[in-house]
Amino acid sequence: MNKRCYYEVLEVTKSADDEEIKKAYRRVAMRCHPDKNPGDKKAEEEFKEAAEAYQVLSDPQKRQMYDRYGHEAIKGNQGFAGFEDIFSSFGSVFGDIFGTGRDRGNRSGKDLRYELNISFTEAVFGTEKKIEFERLKECSTCHGSGIKKGTSPEKCPYCGGTGYISQSAGFFSVRSTCRRCGGGGVLIKNPCDNCNGTGKEREKRKIKITIPAGVESGSRMLLRGEGEGGIGAAPAGDLHVFIFHEQHEIYERRHEHLFARLPISFTQAALGDTITVTTLEGEEKIKIPAGTQNGEVFRLDARGVKRLNSFGRGDIYLEVIVEVPKKLTEYQKKLLRDFAKEERPRS
Ligand SMILES: [Zn+2]
Ligand SMILES: [Zn+2]
Repeated sequence: MNKRCYYEVLEVTKSADDEEIKKAYRRVAMRCHPDKNPGDKKAEEEFKEAAEAYQVLSDPQKRQMYDRYGHEAIKGNQGFAGFEDIFSSFGSVFGDIFGTGRDRGNRSGKDLRYELNISFTEAVFGTEKKIEFERLKECSTCHGSGIKKGTSPEKCPYCGGTGYISQSAGFFSVRSTCRRCGGGGVLIKNPCDNCNGTGKEREKRKIKITIPAGVESGSRMLLRGEGEGGIGAAPAGDLHVFIFHEQHEIYERRHEHLFARLPISFTQAALGDTITVTTLEGEEKIKIPAGTQNGEVFRLDARGVKRLNSFGRGDIYLEVIVEVPKKLTEYQKKLLRDFAKEERPRS
């Protein structure tokens, strides 16, 4: 399937600035938003396409890569898993228009965040990691009630057990959460010794996670139910593991592709040469044809990073930088002058 140009998708020109791109994205996204076009597959596709285009064009680095190398440079793990994903990426653009909040109820466990740093090689080839963290779970002594065994809570006298206070201000009646009981409606006279009345206790948790080959730096793994424990029948929160990998010393990674500069001398460029480059596997010889120009890009097929959850590998792109010598010997200068004479059209 042919991918549409990102600028075309957002209906902007290639010279559009950040503000124009943001506005254009809002316009397109509002038009084909799934809430406005229920059941319309085409609108849904357009909506996703616009989100993808915006993700690239709103990021100066990605946009530069896209302008230079096209979709090749950024394809791969560009898609979104679902709409929730799109919204969480673009909260700042949409604001509260679509209401992305999610209420889990106040007795459910909170989601936790864990940041995991791995090496470049681990990201490229995949790895297994043990992580250890602390989380809160339901208190094993009071089972979340916060009350000492054999005692019972008292109705909050301040709010009469309702958990809120109503105050009249002119024609209005303002309702606010009771500050004395925190909205629970009860006061605990004898708190549980184990949790001091909070209903929760800490536990250390160790889990092993498998990191797939080709994982992106900054990507998130969702481990359901590994967050804070819920109280009573309420569900536990989730653990969001954010994975960051180190930079490679030579290559700049763009999804499954790797990019680097390849400096060569002007004589190598003019006459051609065979040179040795370092890939992820080791050293490899590549041929520079005679007449190679500055800025030309050589591609080493399938030497990049494994495609995440897919087949094959990305490529290595090497951009030729022709280096002009800064210091020349007298003899070299003479040779170049002679060369220059030869180059000029004879009259
Ligand atoms: Zn307790
Ligand atoms: Zn109260």
